[in-house]
Amino acid sequence: MLDADFFRRWMTAAAASVDREAERLTALDSPIGDADHGSNLQRGFRAVTDALAKEPPATPGAVLTQAGRLLISTVGGASGPLYGTLLRRTGKSLGDAAEVDAGQLAEALRAGVDAVRQLGGAAPGDKTMIDALVPAVEALGDSFAAARTAAEEGAVATTPLQARKGRASYLGERSIGHQDPGATSAALLIAALVDASAE
Ligand code: ADP
Ligand code: MG
Ligand code: MG
Repeated sequence: MLDADFFRRWMTAAAASVDREAERLTALDSPIGDADHGSNLQRGFRAVTDALAKEPPATPGAVLTQAGRLLISTVGGASGPLYGTLLRRTGKSLGDAAEVDAGQLAEALRAGVDAVRQLGGAAPGDKTMIDALVPAVEALGDSFAAARTAAEEGAVATTPLQARKGRASYLGERSIGHQDPGATSAALLIAALVDASAE
């Protein structure tokens, strides 16, 4: 079973991974964006870990809704509201249970990803974070490790795609040949589930 402490470890591991990979995320956002994806997420996840350290929420759902709220309020840029919505809706779907199992997390994350699709209007193949998140949710029923692999493969598979949503879509065909920064960070978020369960 996964308790509030597991969800705090997930957010902390995600923040650490964003810190490690911030330069790479910003570099990916440079040819097809405005070179701020790494710094955007660093700012947001720092706010999340600061708040978790100060006043840790008592339930899995509360950890994620608080994290989502903070991402929305601290990240300027498209990814803030999108990741914020992902975590908030996932957290709401978990309700106020003290512990959830992996199947419940998979179901809740599916609702979160659906909310991101609704907010941003992106479908699979549009070269966005959705291309990592959708396969991750599909694989989450098997294991966190399978979800991580699926997300990483989904991120890599954005390279040959033409962007149809977000800033990269302004480039039209010139967006082809570059890995999407948001799909890359989404894979980091999913990979952090493995870190959280290993601790
Ligand atoms: P901004 O483009 O405002 O600078 P970021 O650089 O932080 O924001 O985030 C860019 C990432 O956000 C993209 O790589 C893409 O994965 C994701 N993104 C942008 N627009 C959408 C959308 N409509 N739906 C889903 N994801 C999106
Ligand atoms: Mg950007
Ligand atoms: Mg920006």
